[in-house]
Amino acid sequence: MARAEAAVIRAFHARGFNCIKTSAYRPPATVSGGEKTLHDEGLAADYDTDHEIHAGIWTALKEEIQGEVGEEYQVLAHDKGSGMHIHTEYDPAWRN
Ligand SMILES: [Zn+2]
Repeated sequence: MARAEAAVIRAFHARGFNCIKTSAYRPPATVSGGEKTLHDEGLAADYDTDHEIHAGIWTALKEEIQGEVGEEYQVLAHDKGSGMHIHTEYDPAWRN
């Protein structure tokens, strides 16, 4: 996960945005509907900024970070839970 975190921080800082880690491990019961996610295995983390970011910039950040970390990670820009944020998870094919 450190590799993904470095890529997120670089992408945010390159645009002059601060980077706030808003979540990493959290037990399933704290996710809406008790949905199981890689957060409850400690394999996912969420990042936000206090800058106002246009939807298109979120998409550009997501694509840039995904390109850097490769296909063993899944990177999303989504609006689940705490508002718009970047979600990263370590989910290589061999785990499935
Ligand atoms: Zn997440």
